Amino acid sequence: MSVDFKKFSGVGMTSDSSREKLILFLEKQGITNKKVLHSMRVIPRHIFVDEAISSKAYDNTALPIGKSQTISHPLIVAKMTEIIMCHNPKRVLEIGTGSGYQASVLSLLADKVYTIERIEYLHNISKNLFRKIGFKNIYPKYSDGNTGWPQKAPFDAIIVTAGAANIPDALIDQLSDNGGILVSPVENNGKQYLKSLIKTEGNYKEKIHGIVNFVPLLNGIS
Ligand code: SAH
Repeated sequence: MSVDFKKFSGVGMTSDSSREKLILFLEKQGITNKKVLHSMRVIPRHIFVDEAISSKAYDNTALPIGKSQTISHPLIVAKMTEIIMCHNPKRVLEIGTGSGYQASVLSLLADKVYTIERIEYLHNISKNLFRKIGFKNIYPKYSDGNTGWPQKAPFDAIIVTAGAANIPDALIDQLSDNGGILVSPVENNGKQYLKSLIKTEGNYKEKIHGIVNFVPLLNGIS
């Protein structure tokens, strides 16, 4: 990875030390995967939000990114990334590019990151940011993520960063049958649960990882 992140560091409140504090917080909250912690230490979250709120970028909080959407709070990004990293995925699909932060964290950990966003405005902003930063292994697409990206399947891991009552069948179909892992918020009785699903030779192993609060997974493009 030949991206020089130094050019983004040291900007007032958004300096390396704020990011270091965030990493300590993530460790205290039980994140142990060194690669995940490294990626979150390196990726400057403040450049994925509007400058007016960038001083809050290293708080453990979701922040607005426009069009009523949010950048997920860092702990949930770390948690979802840690869950899939147990499987050492090479090809990852993300549904819900949003700000592009989660995809950027993944880009240091996987060979190829495919990411789909249904809102054109957010797709364009994140796509330009990926180019500006210099990522070569993130492939953004403007489309409805409910249908996944069949031309690029199978994926070793799929991260869904928006919640629905059911995980779309297309995503499960596009998951590798050789221990592919999908992690997604799933709604039940008015609550959202973080669910992981491991697919091995047509068998599924599911696990619930706690309560979460994501924006809804919607249909179609906007
Ligand atoms: N991963 C993002 C978090 C984004 S919030 C980040 O790191 O910033 C969830 C995103 O999912 C929103 O941008 C929303 O527009 C998008 N989304 C919701 N339904 C979708 C769908 N069907 N296909 C693609 N993106 C979707």
